[in-house]
Amino acid sequence: MTTRALVLFSGGQDSTTCLAWALARYDHVETIGFQYGQRHSVELDCRATILEELRAMSPTWDKRLGEDHLLDLSLLGQVSDTALTQNKAIEFQKNGLPNTFVPGRNLLFFTFAATIAYRRDLKVLVGGMCETDYSGYPDCRDNTLKALQVALSLGLEASLVIETPLMWLDKADTWRMAKDLGGDALVRMVEECTHTCYIGDHTTRHAWGYGCGECPACELRRVGHRNFLAIAVGDQA
Ligand code: ZN
Repeated sequence: MTTRALVLFSGGQDSTTCLAWALARYDHVETIGFQYGQRHSVELDCRATILEELRAMSPTWDKRLGEDHLLDLSLLGQVSDTALTQNKAIEFQKNGLPNTFVPGRNLLFFTFAATIAYRRDLKVLVGGMCETDYSGYPDCRDNTLKALQVALSLGLEASLVIETPLMWLDKADTWRMAKDLGGDALVRMVEECTHTCYIGDHTTRHAWGYGCGECPACELRRVGHRNFLAIAVGDQA
């Protein structure tokens, strides 16, 4: 039986690693991205390059990689008042969540992904959410996504599986996963081609990739990369 998956692919480190994970695992893999009025479109601009690079890396991956879907969810940007969709400083809100949290974002992303998956007979939805090393967003948590898997499967009357291969990994583990899946070539590609920074800085190049180096997303990526390299050196010793 052909296994068919749809990966939520933003062009960031996590979703790129998940895409490689899916390409190593499923016979046919499609990708979906969303424009929702992000302040900057750097991440989305990275997507096409990353897809090309992944195709060039492996004939098997090239054969498995199918259609890319880009959905316009600008309505989400219009109705949410956050530091990702409005020009405002990143800070913590009274409820302890940073104002980069876009309420309902992952719930909507998976729901629209399920609509596409239903039409295209894709049985597995893959997302790069993680509750180990993250900004505390409640819609990244395992229980949220398990509940959503049940809701979508019931609501569509079609069994859908939501896979989140990074859920229990820290950022160093995520770099390690890229290395396991595609060796140094994939690690280099993730460093060079993916974008994580909340501010949208894609001019300053660090060892871990492009970014402002200050925002919470850059901080997680920087520390994870440093720890990954430290562990890799330890392995060789
Ligand atoms: Zn940044």
